[in-house]
Amino acid sequence: MNRIKGSTGLIALLGKPVKHSKSPYMHNRSFEILNLDFAYMAFEIENHKVEKSVEAMRTLNAKGFNITMPYKEEVMMFLDEIDKGAKLIGSVNTVLNNNGKLIGYNTDGQGFVKSLEEKHIKFTDEKIVILGSGGSARAIAIQLALDSAREIVIANRTIGKAETISDIINKNIPKVKAKSISLDEKLLKEELKDAKILINTTSIGMDDTMDKSLIRDTDTLHKDLFIADIIYNPSRTKLLSQAQQMGCKTMNGLNMLVYQGALAFKMWTGRDMPKSLIKDILEDSGK
Ligand code: NAP
Repeated sequence: MNRIKGSTGLIALLGKPVKHSKSPYMHNRSFEILNLDFAYMAFEIENHKVEKSVEAMRTLNAKGFNITMPYKEEVMMFLDEIDKGAKLIGSVNTVLNNNGKLIGYNTDGQGFVKSLEEKHIKFTDEKIVILGSGGSARAIAIQLALDSAREIVIANRTIGKAETISDIINKNIPKVKAKSISLDEKLLKEELKDAKILINTTSIGMDDTMDKSLIRDTDTLHKDLFIADIIYNPSRTKLLSQAQQMGCKTMNGLNMLVYQGALAFKMWTGRDMPKSLIKDILEDSGK
């Protein structure tokens, strides 16, 4: 930390909780490797202090900040401009301070898309099935639609939430066909027959559901599917084990986490996050 000087610029993470975030390591290590005069600090903020925290970032002339749960939606009220994709997604996870103007972006969906590209998985003109309809599902579904997926099917326990996402896509990105279905295994199997990618965005597979998967019968899957689970702890969820049993290629959520950070890093610094660091993080998920 002896690299911090009078000139060092601040970049921050605001949220609650933030203690276990990998972002401070990822960004500070990148600043160090590239010899950039920035420091990334995480601040745990109370729920009635979002506006004041944003104003503090402005006052302290922070170059930008990340905003995480549970404030990704609320923060939008206090920014000067919201990027088109983030507006459709309805939440912001990255803010750039452009000469005093705070501009909000959402790099979650873009991070997911970038991780598919890095693995050379083609998604344009393809059919994609998404399990879940929370904040991350919305970011991923809308970004895949903006980036020219052909058809997106969203399956969720609460069908109304899936409908909200498919309605946004059908209204705003009409070249893509979006549809919502309930979490019914027969319906899923039917939809997966001609799909290229299946993405789990639900929390099933982590914490106390570590031994669970929304897919009960592995025959619902087929070997030509690419299966992504955005959970990164554990690194191999039950769904990914089922997928591997069926011979499917898979990806866990670490790639999305790293690439959403790399996109924010590029916005703030104009530089690419070092490839060697990205590789280290992806190989050593324990850090
Ligand atoms: P969220 O907004 O709370 O959404 C959770 C989703 O899981 C909802 O669709 C919910 O269905 C579904 N769900 C929860 N319990 C369920 C159950 N018992 N059966 C069926 N569906 C269930 O959460 P989120 O922010 O989207 O995050 C979801 C997961 O993604 C978390 O595990 C998080 O750690 C991970 N994540 C990873 C990254 C990354 O960079 N890799 C980024 C963001 C999030 P209902 O709508 O019916 O409640």
